[in-house]
Amino acid sequence: MNCTKCKTKAVIGLPRHNAAFCKLCFNGFVHEQVARAVKSERMFGPNDRILVAVSGGKDSLTLWSILLTLGYRADALYVDLGIPNYSEKSHEKVERFADKLAQSHETKLIVHTVQEQAGAGIRELAMLIRRPTCSTCGTIKRYQFNRAAVEQHYDVMATGHNLDDEAARLLGNVLHWQTEYLDKQGPSLPASVEGFAKKVKPLYRLSEREIAAYAVLNRIDYIVEECPMAKGSKMLLYKEVLNRLETESPGTKQRFYCGFLERGIATEPRTGTMQEHDQAMLQPCTTCGQPTSAEVCSYCKMMARAKAKVHST
Ligand code: SF4
Ligand SMILES: [Zn+2]
Ligand SMILES: [Zn+2]
Repeated sequence: MNCTKCKTKAVIGLPRHNAAFCKLCFNGFVHEQVARAVKSERMFGPNDRILVAVSGGKDSLTLWSILLTLGYRADALYVDLGIPNYSEKSHEKVERFADKLAQSHETKLIVHTVQEQAGAGIRELAMLIRRPTCSTCGTIKRYQFNRAAVEQHYDVMATGHNLDDEAARLLGNVLHWQTEYLDKQGPSLPASVEGFAKKVKPLYRLSEREIAAYAVLNRIDYIVEECPMAKGSKMLLYKEVLNRLETESPGTKQRFYCGFLERGIATEPRTGTMQEHDQAMLQPCTTCGQPTSAEVCSYCKMMARAKAKVHST
């Protein structure tokens, strides 16, 4: 198999593009896909400060590295969830990768440790407040990322969601007709109301397999294990189903997700009155000052409940 572009020996075949690439041309292809995503979705410009949410996995570390390679100003935030046998490893990978990047780029890593703030890791915290671990995790991560982005004046927050993630999420939302989530499925979500950072997904044009190949070829040392809490999740099942379809008919995932975007369902502008309504409903949380529609935000409520439980035991 030879490279479609330069005819030297190919290292990867891409059936959905009917192409094969050598390492150099594959890197060029990946960078081009990211540059195209950034431009077509107007994610950010060369002077914007970007905060990348990193987990230690291949997607987020690859994203951080590519953004710096393309000349963008990108720092990263890692949230240490305190999951035994997993968080130590992922934290170490992130720290090491940050040191490596800092040798050739101007960049920094910000770390938030759940244990330090809450006095317990995510699993114990979820048990204390009787909520599923992943929904507790979601609340903490959303809160910490948004808070860091807004308080430290980043223009935009970037996550490593790839084509497989987005297609699987779309499949889940369509299967359950969760139409209220569809307008949040675009790769670029503007900061619709003050106090909430703009969120973008620059890897949405690349599949999980392509990102894994890029990470291996470019010696990005990532944590291979998934978070143990993800076991048995519906998202993994949807990904499996889509992979099966992709093998039979290359390009299915891209046609499904990009077809959805082309139809404008994700980007349909909400009416001005709706946005004004949202803005009017928001007020600073009386505990932390972050915008919320209630008196106290859901993060602070959660933390207060956890503290009350600790004191009562
Ligand atoms: S699987 Fe659950 S606990 Fe693990 S990182 Fe994802 S949301 Fe958090
Ligand atoms: Zn080539
Ligand atoms: Zn709060």
